[in-house]
Amino acid sequence: MIYIRKRRTPEIVKKKADEIKSTPDSGYDEIELPKDAGQLRSLFNEMPKDEIREALCQEQHGLCAYCMRRIRPYRESMKIEHYKELSYYKEDALDYQNYLGVCYGGEKEDGKPHVLCCDAARGAAELTINPWDKRQMEAIAYQRNGVIYIRKDRGLDPELADQMQRDVNEKLQLNGILDKNGKVRYDTTTKLIAGRRSICDSVHTQFERWDRKKCLNVDFLQDKISKLESMLDGNNIADEYICVRLYLYKRKQEKLRKQKKQ
Ligand SMILES: [Zn+2]
Repeated sequence: MIYIRKRRTPEIVKKKADEIKSTPDSGYDEIELPKDAGQLRSLFNEMPKDEIREALCQEQHGLCAYCMRRIRPYRESMKIEHYKELSYYKEDALDYQNYLGVCYGGEKEDGKPHVLCCDAARGAAELTINPWDKRQMEAIAYQRNGVIYIRKDRGLDPELADQMQRDVNEKLQLNGILDKNGKVRYDTTTKLIAGRRSICDSVHTQFERWDRKKCLNVDFLQDKISKLESMLDGNNIADEYICVRLYLYKRKQEKLRKQKKQ
């Protein structure tokens, strides 16, 4: 996961939401949750979804908000996720500021066992982990085998860090199925762990090569980091799992800085 800078609500989206809310015939005012969730979903289905998908894809640089796999602004490629669940938060149901672009989480693929991720795994569960929270996102880290973990030395409240880890493991299932010792039993059907691991392998090979060439230093890495970060500017499309490569470059840079000081 990576920090998502939420943008302004597109005018057409705002207009439609206001129209639904102010039209007495829509029945919006009478909706009570959770019992009328179906009715609220029908109203949500009237929203200009093509424009919503397009805007989400742009602000997320073509990446699923949870797993960092590619999404494209079409119905077959991505879903519009209500961060605050539609069944419980009426006020947020038609609000663009509550939307994330997410993948289908393996729903459309076969797999035995079928290990879903992202929204498909989450269902209607409440989340604490939040891609719009920069501090939270800065505490996300990756093991060499591709497993995501939450760092406890990044100034987060320990209880918050634990809850975020549970969300990653149990609600979003971004680490597939783990056994009770935290070892991976099954990857997700979407092969998230393998995807992240292959980035880790590629980065370690790069480090060795750069080290042999004697160019692996703080400034050299800064150049690489800036290039990667520029994929997250404007409406650029970023590499899948870009957060893994960024994390490894930054961690290496931190290590080199410390060594320099000694
Ligand atoms: Zn996803």
